[in-house]
Amino acid sequence: MVGRFNLIVNALKNFVRFVNLFVMPPTAAFVTCFDKIRRKRNSWFCPPSEALNYLSKKIQMFDDYKFTVAERFMRYVQVDTQSDPNSNTQPSTEKQKNLSKILVTELKQLGITDAALDEFGYVYATIPSNTTKKVPVICFCAHVDTSPDSSGANVKPIVHKKYDGNDIVLPDDPSIVISTNEHPYLKKRIGDDIITASGTTLLGADDKAGVAVIMDMANFLIAHPKIKHGDIKILFTPDEEIGRGVDKVDLNKLDAQFAYTLDAGERGAFEDETFSADGATVTFYGVSAHPGYAKEKLVNAIKVAAAFVESLPKNHFSPETTDSRDGFVHPVQITGIAEKASVQFIVRDFHTDKLSKYENFLKEKMNEAVALFPGSRGEFQVKMQYRNMKEVVDQFPQVSRYAREAIERAGVPVINMSARGGTDGSRLSFMGLPTPNLFTGEMAFHGKQEYVSIQDMQKSVETIVHLAMIWEENS
Ligand SMILES: [Zn+2]
Repeated sequence: MVGRFNLIVNALKNFVRFVNLFVMPPTAAFVTCFDKIRRKRNSWFCPPSEALNYLSKKIQMFDDYKFTVAERFMRYVQVDTQSDPNSNTQPSTEKQKNLSKILVTELKQLGITDAALDEFGYVYATIPSNTTKKVPVICFCAHVDTSPDSSGANVKPIVHKKYDGNDIVLPDDPSIVISTNEHPYLKKRIGDDIITASGTTLLGADDKAGVAVIMDMANFLIAHPKIKHGDIKILFTPDEEIGRGVDKVDLNKLDAQFAYTLDAGERGAFEDETFSADGATVTFYGVSAHPGYAKEKLVNAIKVAAAFVESLPKNHFSPETTDSRDGFVHPVQITGIAEKASVQFIVRDFHTDKLSKYENFLKEKMNEAVALFPGSRGEFQVKMQYRNMKEVVDQFPQVSRYAREAIERAGVPVINMSARGGTDGSRLSFMGLPTPNLFTGEMAFHGKQEYVSIQDMQKSVETIVHLAMIWEENS
């Protein structure tokens, strides 16, 4: 009798499961959420009302959580951490450590005992594993420095609550206006709380949004020990903006297998691809002579260089004429005297093999210019800068798959993007640490119109908490 009763109960349970899984709209989202709620209720039944609530985001693990990301961000941006490309020290400016020290203190206050700042300005810390599973060690990374393009001293962050879509006029310089015309993404953030600077400085959301997001993730995980995760490494780097962000990083000390930088913009953005980059220098040598007695002797290298630059294409092949997946060559500096003049280029494309084609093209143009000025000669030099991280990241497809899943779990559509530039992650990936880039909400960076949405930063925190969980679940 008991056996038959169990049979009936089991059949009923299976029937309810069947109803839950297949009678309700059979989307993946529903199945996952039904599963989750059943687990949460510790029951085989998921009331459809709860599922609907879940789907309308009424029940989520962050519901009772008081985010700390905005409060942290407001404090961090007030610390001047501008890096300096003309300095030879590491970090390039000592003041970057002022923020790093604060971060170490705050990590220690959270109970992260190994948090430490090294002499080069790197902060390393570990949130220890709380699972019996063997989970790959992942790292979250952000840079503390701000761009040399715009002042980062005395930043006065302003919160514009429930942004209404109107132009934001910055009080300390009313000529600086942030409008939805110029910043179409702002339109999507109407209703959010937007943080801007006050008009005389950049904001520093690049990358203090990333720093604050990682700090809040740590705060959340430590406050919620039931959420299982493996060892999570935290890395804060200096000097990213001047391309030296990973020069002195100690990957043995970090001891992570995979990493994510938090340094991309729009909510949902995920970048597993960057440019491949070379630097090229074209040097022209002339023949100098006293200008008063130079007839048929002088060959002016400045004129050779000018003819060379003039011969470059005007309608394509340059940053000002390309976007999306097109590469370019870009003269960034020209210096010279009659005897010697040089033009420096950056060369960029998503396909590494195209760089040499671009460089050969520049060489051809160099030779043509030299041919116009008998007696002159040219020299061509290429220096490798960084490579498209995709070449490395694609060898570990779970790194990107888990990241996209984490963004979706945070209730955000994934926007796959390719960075038309490099990140710390491009170099880290080629140093053996695959490191794609995740959104933080930082927008219009490197200038006075920089802004960030508090809600975007919170979604970024949710994303990386989910990401830590997903690595554990799949181990
Ligand atoms: Zn950045």
